[in-house]
Amino acid sequence: MGGLTPLTTIDFPGRLAAVVYCQGCPWRCSYCHNPELLDATAPAAMPWPQVRVFLESRRGLLDGVVFSGGEPTLQAALPAALAEVRAMGFATGLHTGGMYPERLAGLLPLLDWVGLDIKGPQHRYDAITGVPGSGGRAWESLGLLVASGVAHECRTTWHAGLFPTEELQVLGNTLANAGAVRWKVQPCNVGGDPTAARPQKSEQGSHVVS
Ligand code: SF4
Repeated sequence: MGGLTPLTTIDFPGRLAAVVYCQGCPWRCSYCHNPELLDATAPAAMPWPQVRVFLESRRGLLDGVVFSGGEPTLQAALPAALAEVRAMGFATGLHTGGMYPERLAGLLPLLDWVGLDIKGPQHRYDAITGVPGSGGRAWESLGLLVASGVAHECRTTWHAGLFPTEELQVLGNTLANAGAVRWKVQPCNVGGDPTAARPQKSEQGSHVVS
């Protein structure tokens, strides 16, 4: 695990939750908020059993646990971890970019809420993530999520350097037509040109534990 936030009121809507950060992500968005988590082979900040001990100590105090990253669905042990968290009595949440729709499909029965990043219109994905074909995978995940009936929120990080406001407006309509029930647009936190600072695959480090 790349780190842990013991308490959040904003990362899992309607819940007092802990955030567990998973290491590794196959995409390289220029505006990545957690670049220190991108390398799946970097030394872990803590092992899962340590997280489990922490969660045991928070039974009755927290409502939920949200897995974030990085990209949690990269990790093969995520289904087992979600099942453990549920067995402890916590609601389960997931932050994902939707790059593994086939894995997401298997995870949905274990989830109470999903925050799905929709990085833009499908044709803008390759430029934003640095990975060809990434848009199709994310939008396939959206379809699976909507069809599942699991509570969700789509989130778009936007900057005029990524795509124009006209496309942002069309994106909102496209999401509504696709059945998304909630959409949040958040400002890009990279100063200047968000396309100029793509993190490299060699970056390593651990997420700060607070
Ligand atoms: S999908 Fe993009 S923003 Fe999210 S963790 Fe991966 S590189 Fe960062």
